[in-house]
Amino acid sequence: MLDIQKIRADFPILSQTVNGKPLVYFDNGATSQKPQIVIDAIEKYYQEINANIHRGVHTLSQLATDAYEVSRGKVQHHINAKFAHEVLFTSGTTFGINLVTNGFASILKPGDEVIVSSLEHHSNIVPWQMLCERTGATLKVIPMNEDGELIMEAFEALLSEKTKVVTVNHISNALGIINPIKHIIEKAHAVGAAVLIDGAQAVPHLKPDVQDLDCDFYAFSGHKMCGPTGTGILYGKEEWLNKLPPYQGGGEMIKEVTFEKTTYADLPHKFEAGTPNIAGGIVLGTAIDYLNNIGFDNIQKQEEALLAHATKRLLEIEGLRIYGTGKNKASVVSFNIDGIHPYDIGSIIDKLGIAVRTGHHCAQPIMNFFCIPGTIRASFSFYNTIEEIDAMVEAVKKAQTMLS
Ligand SMILES: *Cc1c(COP(=O)(O)O)cnc(C)c1O
Repeated sequence: MLDIQKIRADFPILSQTVNGKPLVYFDNGATSQKPQIVIDAIEKYYQEINANIHRGVHTLSQLATDAYEVSRGKVQHHINAKFAHEVLFTSGTTFGINLVTNGFASILKPGDEVIVSSLEHHSNIVPWQMLCERTGATLKVIPMNEDGELIMEAFEALLSEKTKVVTVNHISNALGIINPIKHIIEKAHAVGAAVLIDGAQAVPHLKPDVQDLDCDFYAFSGHKMCGPTGTGILYGKEEWLNKLPPYQGGGEMIKEVTFEKTTYADLPHKFEAGTPNIAGGIVLGTAIDYLNNIGFDNIQKQEEALLAHATKRLLEIEGLRIYGTGKNKASVVSFNIDGIHPYDIGSIIDKLGIAVRTGHHCAQPIMNFFCIPGTIRASFSFYNTIEEIDAMVEAVKKAQTMLS
């Protein structure tokens, strides 16, 4: 078992008090906290090797370039991509998805179909809607059941030779449901569709294997996996990245520029225009090392224990309903209490030092499905404890008494 107190000591922010109470941070689904080793690595980059990458022959530029490319290699091995040039640095999941939808604008035709799921984050809905508007393609939606699980028979009925892209999240941010993506990818490929997986909520909890999954694209953010904000990765299969046009034009992404014609750089640079978040990209590698040192098996064991305890304790509260009751779940509990607005609970327990997310979690269609304005979402990380869950449950009970 993990020594949680030792791990917590790695995260300076966790030892503070908020509103006079010890901080209980259960908003890991929005962003994770950062270990000291990540914070130090950012400082070290600026103190020792700051320079622009891929441009200078001078020593610092080479050191920065090497560190950036070493980090790309770490990500490649972490997600088991076949080639380092299939790993693109982005500013986050949102950017990665938009890069892909922009590319498909030159491929889709009126009558083509794009399938999304009813469990998506807005950033995996809106870019596809914009793409459909631009191209005349049609958006189809995989429905879900009362447990928050996607209905596979309905998905298979949507598939046809018109389907060009299927996109679904690996784990739902609003409910924590883990989707059967391997099955979805197989079925989509059987009709010749490309598949993008939104892995934003998966990478803090598990190590995706993009070759085993056989997905065409896998997008995620660094900041939800102990890395800096403004970092992210888009994995794309080489053949797809060669097929798609560049997203942004500028420096770094070109081979040759004249006013008559510009030729583009090879992968991955074709998709990395301009000066990137160099420090962030390098330190994302530090965060991945940190998580692998703890070990994803250990992370999962701790998070499963937290989820089981939270589910059991919360259900002791009268009138409390959990949304997302499917079997395969990550350490997220989304709930409401009869007759009380989620925002009111969130505000009261914040006064008691407990940070949860309240609202629609950028997934309004899910809230519409359940006919609710939003939920209270507690999302746990491996550095959270059973005692913190008990503190949350007591705080929620107190809020319930005050509000009813
Ligand atoms: C957070 C999140 C996103 C968006 O990530 P950004 O870092 O804001 O770009 C997309 N999808 C899911 C499932 C998320 O949880």
